[in-house]
Amino acid sequence: MTSSILVLGAGMVGTCTALHLQQRGFEVTLVDRRAPGQETSFGNAGLIQREAVEPYAFPREPGFLLNVALGRGAQVHWHARGLWQMAGSLLRYLHHSHPKRHAQATEAYSRLIAHATEEHDLLITAAAAQDLVTCEGFRFVFRSAKALDEAAQRAEDLRTRFGVRSEAENTAQLAQAEPALRASLAGAVHWLDPWAVNNPGALVQRYADLFVARGGRVLTGDAASLQAQGEGWSVMTTEGRVDAEQAVLALGPWADALIRTLGYRFPLFIKRGYHQHYHTPAQLRQPVLDAERGYVLAPMQRGLRLTTGAEFAPIDAPPTPVQLAKAEVLARELVDLGQPLPEPPWLGARPCTADMLPVMGPAPQHKGLWFNFGHAHQGFTLGPVVGRLLAEMVSAEDTLLDPAPYRPARFA
Ligand SMILES: Cc1cc2nc3c(=O)[nH]c(=O)nc-3n(C[C@H](O)[C@H](O)[C@H](O)COP(=O)(O)OP(=O)(O)OC[C@H]3O[C@@H](n4cnc5c(N)ncnc54)[C@H](O)[C@@H]3O)c2cc1C
Repeated sequence: MTSSILVLGAGMVGTCTALHLQQRGFEVTLVDRRAPGQETSFGNAGLIQREAVEPYAFPREPGFLLNVALGRGAQVHWHARGLWQMAGSLLRYLHHSHPKRHAQATEAYSRLIAHATEEHDLLITAAAAQDLVTCEGFRFVFRSAKALDEAAQRAEDLRTRFGVRSEAENTAQLAQAEPALRASLAGAVHWLDPWAVNNPGALVQRYADLFVARGGRVLTGDAASLQAQGEGWSVMTTEGRVDAEQAVLALGPWADALIRTLGYRFPLFIKRGYHQHYHTPAQLRQPVLDAERGYVLAPMQRGLRLTTGAEFAPIDAPPTPVQLAKAEVLARELVDLGQPLPEPPWLGARPCTADMLPVMGPAPQHKGLWFNFGHAHQGFTLGPVVGRLLAEMVSAEDTLLDPAPYRPARFA
């Protein structure tokens, strides 16, 4: 008999989870309050980050916290209410970022990242989405020779330990590779394995179209209406109540609010981020991270997209695009940015966990309920891998890799 399952949240993670469950014979209903891929998975930098084998740790450089406290630099911004709300999780994040514990997290994280491009590749091909993707890597660019040298050494170390390929470029090589960069920079680390997507929301929509073409249902509904119903679960949608034997929560940065109503208190927090598009006269060929300043410039269908670092603020607080204004000034040093498109800045939130590992697996206190959230800085990258892993767990088959480090019960 076909087994039914609800997937709540149609971002990159939920949509890929739905596809993988469907592939294993489940009757899947994907529910979101918006169309697929309209939230965090829409506004990111579009990088499928095969190089990101280390999860993003709490920065430990001397002077970092002082700079943040004084509001210097573009990397971090904070609201007092946000820091207060997230204080407990942030302290645990600091604890887990100790080099020894970060190395353990990296072991588990890198095993997921290792499959990122090959798992996207299968879906990109099936969804005929090749027009959205380029496979030529991206660059960390450096203003100082010292920072470039350190990064090149670190890249070499990652090659040895994790097989991540890169090439160091000097000033002339970088200028030749990216003629649109007008500042004379020290050079770059060109990561060769990552891929760049020129419309991240459209890629999620293509994956959702594939899911529908294969017989899946996408419905509009509110995950907050989720209820245990006999042996299964139900949710209210615009088509009425939908019942299923099991349910998956893939609500990205909104997962915390929902699991709290079920009695879970996990050390989750968010890092908000902004983007703005520009009519840039000379387009970059590939995305670049201005590594010493902390923002990304990514060529997109709509123009050059500037994305910002982390803002610690409540998810529903009004936008304060302070970092965007600072990053724009810095980006104008690098490229002829041109005028911003006449639209308000986009705002989203990275769904983070204190131990830097996602939350994937069975809900500890609820039968038939599964979690798949907390993919932080790389949820767009990881969607297909973590969708597959979760579907393998639900169908009790052999898993691609050991899911133990990501199990929700570690926080219960
Ligand atoms: C500025 C920025 C740049 C980034 N750059 C990158 C990058 O280059 N590469 C990368 O890999 N990652 C990047 N990320 C991180 C990445 O975008 C996220 O990790 C990823 O999108 C999370 O996907 P998700 O499916 O878990 O969440 P989402 O995409 O947010 O999906 C969650 C879904 O749940 C739905 N939902 C929420 N509440 C309800 C409800 N009550 N009822 C129904 N539906 C609901 C939402 O509508 C949404 O569609 C970036 C993030 C930011 C903010």
